[in-house]
Amino acid sequence: MQAPWQPLTDEPPYGLTAQQKTPRLLAELIALNGHHQTHCALYQRLQQALPLCQQQPGSLAELPYLSVRLFKQFTLQSVPDNQVFKTLYSSGTTGQPSRIVLDKDAAALQSKVLVRIMQHWLGKDRLPMLIIDHPGVVKDRNSFSARGAGIQGLAFMGRNHCYALNEDLSVNTEALTEFCQRYSEGPVLIFGFTFMVWQWLSQLAAGQVQLPQAILLHSGGWKKLQAQAVGNAEFKAKLAQVAAIQRVHNFYGMVEQIGAVFVECEQGHLHCPASADVLVRNPQNWQLCAHGEPGVLQLLSTLPRSYPGHSLLTEDRGVIIGEDNCPCGRPGKYFQVLGRLALAEARGCSDTVTAQAV
Ligand SMILES: [Zn+2]
Repeated sequence: MQAPWQPLTDEPPYGLTAQQKTPRLLAELIALNGHHQTHCALYQRLQQALPLCQQQPGSLAELPYLSVRLFKQFTLQSVPDNQVFKTLYSSGTTGQPSRIVLDKDAAALQSKVLVRIMQHWLGKDRLPMLIIDHPGVVKDRNSFSARGAGIQGLAFMGRNHCYALNEDLSVNTEALTEFCQRYSEGPVLIFGFTFMVWQWLSQLAAGQVQLPQAILLHSGGWKKLQAQAVGNAEFKAKLAQVAAIQRVHNFYGMVEQIGAVFVECEQGHLHCPASADVLVRNPQNWQLCAHGEPGVLQLLSTLPRSYPGHSLLTEDRGVIIGEDNCPCGRPGKYFQVLGRLALAEARGCSDTVTAQAV
């Protein structure tokens, strides 16, 4: 028995059942909500306008939530400007990007939790790392793009980094050949954004890359691949066929809730780590959906301390598949992302929440 509780960020990422986790998550999120009300004047104003927030939430579903779109419209931060250590921007191709600020403690906590989650999947050793991108994407240290931030965030999980692409996204054959010659006999880590990995695969000559012990992590959404009618099964089949890569994990997360990553298990299910959770809401009435019923994803995380991003309504559709009973054996909630909301639906969703709040 543990009493008093340690924070969920100190727990092994996949060690708690729903019954063990939920009361602790609720208590931490209520405390965090109070912290942001005290330290972010705009958040407090938004909160006061939400009828739900007048009483103490009795369940995760009753916690107040912000539309992720609000981070594009407003500067929401719970630390003074002089303590901002790092600023992150979302990757939106149109309009204003989200702006997320981290102080030193928040940045350190985010790294710590990310490492613990990734070590679960990769092991504790730093592996030689192949990055499916070009080195220019991380060069601008002042304004991290989402792609740059993603690579930077994962780069310290590996060693002897090799960038597989040139600036024009063609394959850097020389670098790739050298990497394969040195490391193809042993385990390696490969990371790239889903669409970049697909582009890379499509350019490879037969037999050019054979990395049978590689673990490939990829993220960034399926939108571009869905346009080409490529799904997860085909993506994995092509990795195996072209490069002999068998272990592939997609993961889901967003700049607005950095550090909370949901990694795909061997069964193809995204798992919630101890310090994060997902809820799914029906966009007609914002009530919670039953397991198996698709709706809009809401993300909960105990990590955001420097900005009020602990409970966010996303613009992604998803479905909870189950809880504590995934055949892979990991306890906790597991789910699938079904893609972006249609633009009108996303606007409606944001308008509803914004109107409620402002
Ligand atoms: Zn699983």
